[in-house]
Amino acid sequence: MTKYTRQLTGAGPDVIIIGAGPVGSYAALNLAKVGVNATVFEEHPKIGHPSHCAGHLSIRSLSSMGLYPLPKGTVENTFRTANFYSSKGTKFSIRLSKPVTAALNRARFDQYLAKQAEAAGARFILNTRVQSIIMNDGFVTGVNVQQNGEKQEQVASKITVDAEGVSSRLLRQAGLRGLKPRGLVYAVEAEVENVRDVEQDAVEVYLGKAYASGFYGWLIPRLDGTAKVGLGTNRGNPRDCLQALMTKHPVASRQLSEAKITQISYHAITLGGPINKAYANGFLAVGDCASQVKPTTGGGVIFGLTCAKIAAETASEALKQGDVSSDALQVYQNRCSGLLSFDFNVMLKLRRFLDSLSDDKVDEMLRVCSRLGVDKALSSEDEIDFQGKMMLRVMGKPSMLAAISYFAMLYLSANA
Ligand SMILES: Cc1cc2nc3c(=O)[nH]c(=O)nc-3n(C[C@H](O)[C@H](O)[C@H](O)COP(=O)(O)OP(=O)(O)OC[C@H]3O[C@@H](n4cnc5c(N)ncnc54)[C@H](O)[C@@H]3O)c2cc1C
Repeated sequence: MTKYTRQLTGAGPDVIIIGAGPVGSYAALNLAKVGVNATVFEEHPKIGHPSHCAGHLSIRSLSSMGLYPLPKGTVENTFRTANFYSSKGTKFSIRLSKPVTAALNRARFDQYLAKQAEAAGARFILNTRVQSIIMNDGFVTGVNVQQNGEKQEQVASKITVDAEGVSSRLLRQAGLRGLKPRGLVYAVEAEVENVRDVEQDAVEVYLGKAYASGFYGWLIPRLDGTAKVGLGTNRGNPRDCLQALMTKHPVASRQLSEAKITQISYHAITLGGPINKAYANGFLAVGDCASQVKPTTGGGVIFGLTCAKIAAETASEALKQGDVSSDALQVYQNRCSGLLSFDFNVMLKLRRFLDSLSDDKVDEMLRVCSRLGVDKALSSEDEIDFQGKMMLRVMGKPSMLAAISYFAMLYLSANA
């Protein structure tokens, strides 16, 4: 990946992008495609590393962005089934007629996006950390960077796009509110060998506070007997919760009884819904740092890429008009909200609903879903990202209406 590394020379770019995660690189790609001079600073020496993500994405959404199929070696497996388990081991499955999701090798995916952006004309500078934002008269006018631990250097830009991920440290320097700690869960993601008793085209989802309070656990198998296993929690140490899942959960402990962890990583996931203001004078925030992440599943790649494209369009229009003020950049927030706010609102309610349930109620809910035939009502759905619109579509089906009435009763009884 050294070919991405360049020296800091010459005048500043029109747009600086902080972070070469998928969102930063996709913003760079969309800027470069319309001829905007964009430079990405990435603090790590290698794009995609260290990886913290399960890389479980919707094939439909990737295809609609022209990102599927992907180069060989990027897709590790595809899935048409999701098995949900309560902490007692009750199972509810949704089986679709064709694969709807893919597990990606996130490092390769990130590298692919960066290569596309570089081929389109974006510049990537690795091993270079943005230490701080430069402010002049209330405008973000560039960044202070440090390369390979050497002396700090100032780089000017007309617009800075913050794609720094969940830490949101620089966001606050630009005068915006950081992510609310209340909306965060702490996650662990492990690579494991010797997984048993799993269907190769099914993802396993373990619900319940006993193992993953405020979120869920997952097992995403590969075809070679290895898997990605993880969970998020708002209570306790994620490593201890994972240990409990692997040794005590009635189903996961069987599937993982012989499993050996070969790699492990820890990272936060933001579930609080998008921040209220993701723009300032000369500044846009995208991806995890703007909390553009699904509150139900914690998936942030698709919505992050969607908003990165909108950020690139907004930035290029603002540059053309010669106005990078927050008034001009506000259109970014309006466009993102117009596209996503309904789905975010529904998902925030679903997250609140799930969080309100005791483990016994989750167990009951999975049994009722099977009895009402919710699996059949959802069997032709391939939408996992725009969950609000998906709910609207399936609500007309009698089994879904019955299920939603039942969920409403559960919610009311949990909060009575
Ligand atoms: C355990 C786990 C599992 C997940 N699984 C899924 C999943 O299956 N599907 C899904 O859609 N989402 C998943 N997510 C969420 C997903 O990983 C994020 O939503 C996604 O990575 C957001 O992309 P991003 O580019 O905004 O941020 P990141 O991927 O975090 O990238 C930010 C980049 O910025 C760099 N950076 C940060 N600060 C600086 C700085 N000051 N200077 C220079 N560079 C900097 C970082 O090194 C990094 O490369 C998961 C998250 C976790 C924690």
